[in-house]
Amino acid sequence: MLGAGVAGLSAAFAARNSGADVILVSAGAGASSLGGGAVDDVPWEERMHAARVLGSPIELHSLPADVAAFSNALGIWDLPDRAPPPFVATIAGRLRPARGRDKGLLDLGALHGKRVLLPRAPRAGWDADAIAATLSDDPLARRTGLRFEAIDTPILRFADEARISDGDLAARHDDPARIAWLGERMREALTSDARVHPDEPASAVLLGSWLGARAARAEELSERIGLPVGEVLVGVGSAAGLRFEAAQKKFLDALRVQRIADRAVSLVRDGDRILLTRARDTAKTAADAAVIAMGGVAGGGIVYDPPEHDAGEDLPARGAIPFALSIDAPVALALGRGPLDVVASMHGPELDQIAWPKDAAPSALEAVGVHAPGGRAAPGIFVAGDVLAARPRTLLEAVASGLRAGRAAAQPA
Ligand SMILES: Cc1cc2nc3c(=O)[nH]c(=O)nc-3n(C[C@H](O)[C@H](O)[C@H](O)COP(=O)(O)OP(=O)(O)OC[C@H]3O[C@@H](n4cnc5c(N)ncnc54)[C@H](O)[C@@H]3O)c2cc1C
Repeated sequence: MLGAGVAGLSAAFAARNSGADVILVSAGAGASSLGGGAVDDVPWEERMHAARVLGSPIELHSLPADVAAFSNALGIWDLPDRAPPPFVATIAGRLRPARGRDKGLLDLGALHGKRVLLPRAPRAGWDADAIAATLSDDPLARRTGLRFEAIDTPILRFADEARISDGDLAARHDDPARIAWLGERMREALTSDARVHPDEPASAVLLGSWLGARAARAEELSERIGLPVGEVLVGVGSAAGLRFEAAQKKFLDALRVQRIADRAVSLVRDGDRILLTRARDTAKTAADAAVIAMGGVAGGGIVYDPPEHDAGEDLPARGAIPFALSIDAPVALALGRGPLDVVASMHGPELDQIAWPKDAAPSALEAVGVHAPGGRAAPGIFVAGDVLAARPRTLLEAVASGLRAGRAAAQPA
């Protein structure tokens, strides 16, 4: 397996469950560690759009049993199997549906007509008043009567906590004593709030991406104060990403997968074996099959490589395909469903035109990948996750394709 994002982990899970020995080579973090904790099967805007067009509530599709089994083994996601679907609140002030969520995020799916409190804190990026006002103004919040209010309560314990990163603050909440302290402060705040709003008690508390770096501490805090407490969904770089990294290590240990922290450089066929070359070790690794799960442009599996990168001081010698797999391998790239072609301009494709989604079409940066119908790119070489061309860039899509690739790779040729 190349890559330790959710596609690489699910491929390893399926291959081990099919009886294969697995070596996993990974260069480090990818998109799975960068996301904010929402777990989607299809892009959530599509779900909202479909519900609007059909005039029906957002549906919750059932999950294949192997996807649910992988999620249970990973242990960090809640993927409910009955309605209502989870809704998460973004730090930019939107409410949006998700198929599931990291267990640290607050699920607002069942909180119609309720008051949600956001404690104020003097941290850059956490303006509780602005976030509460924007969330209250979200069309969905207005339709369901959900209201968000900022409140005063001390949630930072030490002076440096006004400046440290979300990840560092999340790590402090891995300490049970700190969660107990926070629970006390919140109980005090809820008691004062109940005096001001005796007829409308608060129903939940929304916090920043701060509740645990090694594991989600939201549930423990919720039990302490008797109300759901959870995190907001942030754009890039979250405590949920750190929790994925922590879960990844435990997951691979439990599966007894050999892990090599290195960058893959090439995959070649040698008779009926696949040979892998790595950056830091001249010894080649031989295997019966390989799964490329190195992520897309965000994860480092696909690189943007327009002709002008080789131009030197003059024009490049020739036009070229403007993207490349980040390793040498006998596979072809595609953009969407069509093959990827040499660009007419020596400067590469017009990013202004192709790098943004247009209507329902994803941006080229999210559609480019390895051409591998059914997940097989060449004999013995399988592909999964964001590195696959023309598949949605979501966690559950990456898991489903990883499980399929892992099973296929474990079959005798
Ligand atoms: C900012 C952001 C927000 C997102 N938000 C959501 C969301 O809200 N909901 C949702 O469902 N999805 C979201 N996604 C998409 C989701 O995270 C991805 O679809 C999914 O994580 C892809 O998993 P993967 O395993 O295919 O790739 P990755 O997680 O990118 O893993 C790729 C792995 O390959 C390794 N690698 C790369 N090159 C090499 C090499 N040469 N040698 C060895 N290893 C290599 C990397 O180090 C990494 O371990 C988001 C993505 C990003 C970037």
